[in-house]
This record gives sequence, structure tokens and C-alpha cells, in this order.
Amino acid sequence: MKTQKNESPTKPAKATECQAQLALPVPEEKLPEPPSVLPLYTEGELTCRLPEEPRVLLAEEAFNQLFGWACSTNLEICCLGGVRREGSIFTVDRFYLLEQASGSVSTELDDEALTNLISKLIQEGKRYDASKIKCWAHSHPRMELFWSKTDAETCRTLLSDYLVSIVVGQDFNARCRIDIGGPVPVTLDRVPVSLEFGLDKALLEKCRKELEEKLTPQVTRWDFGKHLCEPREPIELQFDEQDLSLDEWPDSYQGLYGDEWGWG
Ligand SMILES: [Zn+2]
Repeated sequence: MKTQKNESPTKPAKATECQAQLALPVPEEKLPEPPSVLPLYTEGELTCRLPEEPRVLLAEEAFNQLFGWACSTNLEICCLGGVRREGSIFTVDRFYLLEQASGSVSTELDDEALTNLISKLIQEGKRYDASKIKCWAHSHPRMELFWSKTDAETCRTLLSDYLVSIVVGQDFNARCRIDIGGPVPVTLDRVPVSLEFGLDKALLEKCRKELEEKLTPQVTRWDFGKHLCEPREPIELQFDEQDLSLDEWPDSYQGLYGDEWGWG
């Protein structure tokens, strides 16, 4: 009872105000989540090292097929290729042109055509060739060499353990990437790509013999009659110390490199 007597006369009004506030929607405050990861090492940036730089080679047949198709139309073309891998060298031996719907800036592989190609190779007893199809190539007629969003999606769709992808222009230029599958997929872009060719050893030998028959070596001589290889007296170099003083240069060059030379 004593407590009631000591209450301030303003208290009922405050209580009403508090009740009104309670009726308002209370803003939801997000409580901090307890950490699920505790960083133990955060120095520097994530790095990726390659023990050997990968390279892609186009066998002569593959090169002729790819640029033969790409340079024969202003529409975008695509094809699949068989890859032979030795260490970090990936050689595309040949390409297969499939049924495809093509536009000037895009092309779509026919899924059924891809399945048919694999089945056909297996039926012909070329199971090994079918297992080697790990290259996808397409052209960018009259465009820069880059990977579009669609290109990247195609790479992901065709990727198994690895996929070599090549985009070519009509100027016999190409850009290459290798996608590697697994738990941490990796893309290596701007992989060096070259044409593989075999030297004609018989022709080289014929050229060498032809040179032996028709080339007479000439010895270059100085005007004063000594051959470059002949011993000669050493030339004594003499400098005046004043000539080597850097402080003297500005005055020495005055007049030599002045306005009268008309620079520019
Ligand atoms: Zn593309």
C-alpha cells in the first residue's frame, strides 16, 4: 500500500505512452550469427602454380579443317575435336563437323548430332577416338576473340576431366583455353596454341646439297687488308679527364644542339 501512495501523478500517462509504443511494429534486428569458419591464415592472395606451362598444338589436318570451315562462311561455325595428350601438351588431331543451327554471332550444337557422332565412332570400332573427343572449337567471324557467357556455359556443359576450347577468327588467329574438371574447376585462358608440322627431312637434305653445290663463301675484309679474325695490335685509347667531366657538358654542347638544329 505504501508503494501506491508514493507513485508520481504522471505515471499513468507514461504507461499509456509505453502501451502505444508496444502496439507499434518492432523493427527486426538481426542478431550476429555465430562464426562457422575461423580464419587461421589470411596473408596474401590465393595463388595457383603450374609445374609446366600447357600448350595446345593443331595437327595439320585439324588446322586445315578448322580454318577451312571458319574461313568459308561469315556465319559462326563450331566443331568437336579429338585430343591426344602427352604431359602438358595437348594435340588436336582432327575435327568433326556436326549438324548445327548457325547465325552470324552464335551457333548451337545439336545434342542429337553429338550423340550420333559418339555412337557412330563406337559402331565403327573407334571407341578410343570417341573417348578422345575433348576439344570444342568455334569461330567468331568479323569479331574479336573472347569468351562470351554462352561460350563459358558450353565449356562447362562439355567438360568431363578436361576440355580444350578454341575460338578462331578469319585472320588465322586463335585463342585457346583449357577447363579442368574435378572438385575445384579451373580455367586456364590464353593457352599458347600452335600449328604442328613435320619437317620434310628428305627435302631439307636436298636443300643442303644444293647449297653446297651453288654457294661460294666470301671472306669479309677490312679496307686496310686484315681479316676480322687475324691478330692485330691493340689500339690505345686516350682520354683527357676534362672530356669526361659531366659538369662541362652543357657548355660544351651549346651551339651544337641549339635552336639552329631545328629539333622536332
Ligand atoms: Zn564465342
